[in-house]
Amino acid sequence: MLGRGLRVRATLVARAGQHQIWRGRGAFACFSTSIQAASSSEKHIAVVGGGAAGLYTASRLLAKAQDIRIDVFEQLPTPYGLVRFGVAPDHPEVKNCTTKFAQVCDDSRVRLFGNIKIGNGPLLSLERLLSVYDGVVLSYGASEDRKLGIPGEDRAGVVSAREFVAWYNGLPEAQELNPDLESSDRVVIVGQGNVGLDCARILLTDPEDLAKTDITARALDRLRRSKVRHVEMVGRRGPLQVAFTTKELREMTKIPGVAFICDRELVARECERWAGQVEKNRSLKRMMDLLLKHATGDPVGGAAGKERSFTLRFLRSPVEVEGGPERGAALGVRFRVNRLEEGAGEAARAVGTDEFVTVPCGMMLRSIGYASTAVDATAPFDRQRGIVPNIGGRVTDGHGQVVPGLYAAGWVKRGPVGVIATTMQDAYHTGDAILADIHNGYIIGNSDKTRAINEMLARAGVLDKCVTNAEWKRLEAFEVEAGRAAGKPREKVTGVAQMLDIVRK
Ligand SMILES: Cc1cc2nc3c(=O)[nH]c(=O)nc-3n(C[C@H](O)[C@H](O)[C@H](O)COP(=O)(O)OP(=O)(O)OC[C@H]3O[C@@H](n4cnc5c(N)ncnc54)[C@H](O)[C@@H]3O)c2cc1C
Repeated sequence: MLGRGLRVRATLVARAGQHQIWRGRGAFACFSTSIQAASSSEKHIAVVGGGAAGLYTASRLLAKAQDIRIDVFEQLPTPYGLVRFGVAPDHPEVKNCTTKFAQVCDDSRVRLFGNIKIGNGPLLSLERLLSVYDGVVLSYGASEDRKLGIPGEDRAGVVSAREFVAWYNGLPEAQELNPDLESSDRVVIVGQGNVGLDCARILLTDPEDLAKTDITARALDRLRRSKVRHVEMVGRRGPLQVAFTTKELREMTKIPGVAFICDRELVARECERWAGQVEKNRSLKRMMDLLLKHATGDPVGGAAGKERSFTLRFLRSPVEVEGGPERGAALGVRFRVNRLEEGAGEAARAVGTDEFVTVPCGMMLRSIGYASTAVDATAPFDRQRGIVPNIGGRVTDGHGQVVPGLYAAGWVKRGPVGVIATTMQDAYHTGDAILADIHNGYIIGNSDKTRAINEMLARAGVLDKCVTNAEWKRLEAFEVEAGRAAGKPREKVTGVAQMLDIVRK
């Protein structure tokens, strides 16, 4: 799992007598105070991924260490990761964290190298970074998605929620998605989490309301022509096991002109059956109260006199995606009906019955989670857990040994769950691990490194190709100006070539 170069480096450090100490976890776990580094020479840290995790880790280091230099490598010309390309356009307040991110990028000790993908060839491999930097933070998030593994999943019309979100938020690689919003009035979302709710809300909200957000012009145009009126969100278990949060569900109950449908009897039955657990868990209780208050009681999904509807459907597992069984619908999603066994909450298990139902739709969104991959063939990666293996942010190799100088933060460290606040805390812990390692002399630093780093970057073509912080700010100003004309906070530029054109003019 670990490349030869990484192993060589680990061995060298072990020879220096540090390896034993690296293994111990508890000694550094609580480190959080301001530090006086053991050596006054500069420490050079590379951050791989300019999203929330990378920039919060950087902010922690900048706040607590004086003699530090940080290079942030971001594969896209634009920083901020999912805060730009994931967070829903109608949740602008969530993006306030970008003020902090901009401060980090503006700090004179930080260099932003946008448009630079680490792992893309030997000149920019992880091994190469480790050979010149004192520390490397892997914070490259999760840019793939989990699959259901059912027949027909690759049919046209089956789209991952990740791609759909990326499309309406302007991620360059998702702009050719062309989601089918016209062949049927129904979309099925498989999975009951917050990302699925974001998709449902975007599909059912009046496009004129979205027009005031930073949703892309292309997505808005498509949504204006959309014939989608009904969104069904399906989960394999019951109401007590949903993954979304109450705040996001409440928004679904408030979209003007949209009926909120779910099987009220089932919710009431489950709440009664597990009354003890529901009463004990305040957030679950709030969620159940919300469901009971708004459910129409119609388990089959009439729109309750409204033109549009959002249906929460429980106890269904998708088993196959078929060609459209009805005229006008491109797809039919075949579900097995389940019943629940073995307890409430996470302990509940969905057991298939002999009953099946098929739901016709124009598009099926698979919304069962994001997935990370290895940054390159030499990098540590735990395929089973889908994360970079680590102990409190210190990356470990295939044998559970800490790899000196290598750290992880954010979704790639703990898996693709958690909001920005969780990611911030997690990044701060990783920052503290680095600070502790500096303090204890495991990261020694060397002022001569600047030259070696710059030579490496020049050889890899980074200095010619990268989008700097000043250039990103020019692009941002362009977007804000274009948005002003359209009465929105910004009009995102959605192509890499176009972005580069703007920043280089
Ligand atoms: C659809 C969606 C909606 C969300 N909405 C909310 C919300 O409303 N509120 C909230 O608090 N949280 C929300 N979240 C969660 C929040 O976005 C995450 O907690 C956070 O973005 C995770 O940060 P990260 O840095 O780990 O990953 P990311 O934000 O994905 O950042 C990783 C960065 O690494 C870059 N990268 C990847 N590979 C490489 C490479 N090889 N070289 C260089 N760079 C690379 C990527 O381009 C990206 O910019 C949402 C998440 C999703 C998916």
